[in-house]
Amino acid sequence: MTMRYPLTVRALFERARLYFPDREIVSRMSTGIVRHTYAQLSARTAQLAHALAALGVKRGDRVATFAWNHYRHLEAYFAAPCMGAVLHTINIRLPAEHIIYIANHAKDKVLLVDEDLLPAILPIADQFKTIERIIVMSDSRTERPGLLDYESLLEGKPTTYAWPEEIDEWETAGICFTSATTGNPKGVTYTHRAIYLHTMGACMADTVGISERDTIMPIVPMFHVNAWGLPFAATFMGAKQVLPGPRPTPADLIQLMVDEKVTCAAGVPTVWMGVMMVLEKDPTIQFPALRKIACGGAAVPEALSLAYQKRIGLPIFHAYGMTEAAPVTHVCALKAEMDAWAPAEQQKVRNKQGILVPGLEMKILDKDGHEVPWDGKTFGEICLRGPWIADDYFGDPRAQETFVGGWYRTGDIANIDANGYIQIVDRTKDVIKSGGEWISSVELENATMGIPGVAEAAVVAAPHPVWDERPVACVVLKPGVTLTAEQIQAALREKFPAYWVPDAVQFLAEIPKGATGKFDKKILRAGVKDLFTAKA
Ligand code: AMP
Repeated sequence: MTMRYPLTVRALFERARLYFPDREIVSRMSTGIVRHTYAQLSARTAQLAHALAALGVKRGDRVATFAWNHYRHLEAYFAAPCMGAVLHTINIRLPAEHIIYIANHAKDKVLLVDEDLLPAILPIADQFKTIERIIVMSDSRTERPGLLDYESLLEGKPTTYAWPEEIDEWETAGICFTSATTGNPKGVTYTHRAIYLHTMGACMADTVGISERDTIMPIVPMFHVNAWGLPFAATFMGAKQVLPGPRPTPADLIQLMVDEKVTCAAGVPTVWMGVMMVLEKDPTIQFPALRKIACGGAAVPEALSLAYQKRIGLPIFHAYGMTEAAPVTHVCALKAEMDAWAPAEQQKVRNKQGILVPGLEMKILDKDGHEVPWDGKTFGEICLRGPWIADDYFGDPRAQETFVGGWYRTGDIANIDANGYIQIVDRTKDVIKSGGEWISSVELENATMGIPGVAEAAVVAAPHPVWDERPVACVVLKPGVTLTAEQIQAALREKFPAYWVPDAVQFLAEIPKGATGKFDKKILRAGVKDLFTAKA
């Protein structure tokens, strides 16, 4: 037998203080760059825990955050779970009614909010039913009636905390809400065990491969699935962290990557598209320390991956996952035998979402419930199970449709090739159903974004009186470029069967983005819903 040693967030946290006390956590704040060490993180986290305990926060209580990526947010990441409370990171981009719903549904007890985000919170504060105290994280220490100041609360508190050892690994450490296609966001709770094992999975050499030698910059917000688990993984390993703070622009991100010698930065494709626009204008920018550009949350267009390969000599490292999986489930690293492949063949692999992270199990089921062959063509819905996959939505009957027979049905449609690499073809809700055939919006988007002069493109279904649905491309051109709808359709006709080619192309100034920076197809669909039916 072995010891019954619980896998808790405390174990992830304590190691950095012991072995890497001087390693830095760099935050870009409104006042400039602020540096802390793991020793300081440890001390301030203990002070925060004392402050929360003094406010009555107990085991199982929800500590909500409404904040950018910075050191105070990181302190909350550890103080709440290590003291036995639950960290609830609220997405700052959600509409007010959803913020109210999730704070009440999660039964948040205290709320830590960035000073510059107060305008989103104060007008709705009277609708929070369970939040007892609002703590403002500010650099200015302004006294505000009815609100508490974070730094004043920490001041004078002891810099060590007797973290309870009896916390069980099955207790909830965190909660995050994922936006639903319709209705309120759905809550996913993470046990200590899930966070611990996900961290181990993400740190392994063949996954994201995080080392103490790394400098990790999560551009992905800390309010979105624990910033893909990177703050936990970086702290566990003792890696230097760079937190880009409020509203970072592509130029801010580039400056941090250069100045702080970032080795691994992670963000959604739209972030990397923005960074590339700056890189293309200024050929002098170089990132000699960078070894991994991690990208996920939406499919990485081949053109983007190639642009990075060409401009800085590094391809994009594609990863896939979701809120329900804490989030990483697949990463796309080439297998050793692929090193000998031609670059174009390697790129085809890199465009895929990758192979399953060790520790998880997957089935891809066709519409009749049969597993699809590993032929790289036949597609079905990805179903997952494993130690960091959710089995429920928090107090939400919609869980019944998603968690079926011990498996989580992702709603993502993919094929799997002979080497085990999956390729997401679409979301079940985004796939375009035309004349009984399925058209992949993702493949059309990727090809459209590969047309020179196109900055961004999203393809959505518009209802059609004859064909049921037809694809419409929504396109943003690069500045100074003129392209016609016919030119875009002609370029796509070279790559796809005629019935795949979008019937219409709409030129937009910008593709609307959702709360997590992904294209918001709901808005686009609403904009094209009468395009063909009105004409009929
Ligand atoms: P979220 O829970 O907000 O992180 O969204 C998860 C969803 O984003 C997944 O179910 C996929 O539909 C999509 N997604 C995440 N990563 C990728 C990727 N690399 N390629 C395509 N879709 C992705």
